[in-house]
Amino acid sequence: MYDSIVIGSGAAGSVMARRLADAGERVLVLEKRPHIGGNCYDVPDAYGILIHQYGPHIFHTNEEDVFRFLSEFTDWYFFGHEVAANVHGTLLPVPFNLNTLHMVYNAAEADKLEEILIREYGEGSRVPIMRLRENPNPNIRAIAEYVYENIFLHYTMKQWGQTPEEIDAEVTARVPVLISRDNRYFQDKYQGMPKDGYTAMFHKMLSHPLITVRTSADCKDCMEFADGKVLFDGKAFDGKVVYTGALDELFDCEYGRLPYRSLDFVFEHYKEDSYQGRSVVNYTVSEKFTRITEFKYLTGQVDASGTTIVKEYPFAYTGAEGEVPYYAIINDKNLALYQKYKKKLTGFEHVYLLGRLAEYKYYNIDAIVKKALMLADEIGR
Ligand code: UDP
Repeated sequence: MYDSIVIGSGAAGSVMARRLADAGERVLVLEKRPHIGGNCYDVPDAYGILIHQYGPHIFHTNEEDVFRFLSEFTDWYFFGHEVAANVHGTLLPVPFNLNTLHMVYNAAEADKLEEILIREYGEGSRVPIMRLRENPNPNIRAIAEYVYENIFLHYTMKQWGQTPEEIDAEVTARVPVLISRDNRYFQDKYQGMPKDGYTAMFHKMLSHPLITVRTSADCKDCMEFADGKVLFDGKAFDGKVVYTGALDELFDCEYGRLPYRSLDFVFEHYKEDSYQGRSVVNYTVSEKFTRITEFKYLTGQVDASGTTIVKEYPFAYTGAEGEVPYYAIINDKNLALYQKYKKKLTGFEHVYLLGRLAEYKYYNIDAIVKKALMLADEIGR
């Protein structure tokens, strides 16, 4: 009946399903949630404002093939995404860049420091904060300490419950210090939103005569993975299975749960036209939440009155009902546990793991789309 079963309909699962179907395969998509789109899912709230239910997702890429593929299913609302940090009431551009430098230091000092930074790293370069802190030049280290203390330390403590030194260096390196006057959060060529939202884009992607989508369908209710064999509806299934869910849950967390950070999203609606006048403000030295997103500035929506925002309160995922595992906590211990689960799939010839959860990785949207396209081309017909 089916050539492939894809478990999960987020970016990973949807792209995989479409690519396999385009290659002529009959694909079944099993989605545990009542909706498609994974954590990219967006939906109008009670006031008609398009919100991202699982937190702000801003698409950005330099990958032409990724952009071309997604553009088959959506038009775009392009914008250069900018973020401000609220530092004791002052809004500063983040990533910290030369404009930020001139807002923090007096003119003469900023000119001098700018010259030192450019001489040291070159104009346009991107320097992770943890690398900047290691510079022997006391002038550079002073800037690094300012950025560390006012942009990274408290935000990271909230987000991860750990200091920037304790977490994987690649995480803080996502937001490097920029030796430029570019106030954008990302420097990628394409950045913006699917014009009608992510859900519409994934809906179109999954609308294919060879794709069947079942929502509110937990794969564990109809599939079994044991002794190198996959059972589907009680019978042996010899086709391909692409699993995009959490790997520990596939095996009932028998070695204990893989650790994740989760978020509590608190949405608020205001009758005013605008709450903060911009899309995202990071609270880097105060508050219990990490950031406030005002959706209309992300989506460009103008046809609804009032405005909806969301505050993000991080906490340690426990696996309790209703919690969502958002961020893998990458360290040696957790990766070893992940590998232990992965070993359980040895012998399953046609089972593939794909995505943030299944691969226990910190993927951006474009990176997982790219990975899904590559894997589909490798395993598809
Ligand atoms: N970060 C920070 N302060 C900021 C922005 C980011 O300390 O103002 C750190 C923090 O540790 C965060 C990481 O950089 O988890 C990556 O930030 P990014 O905005 O890429 O996170 P995401 O949007 O994926 O949650």
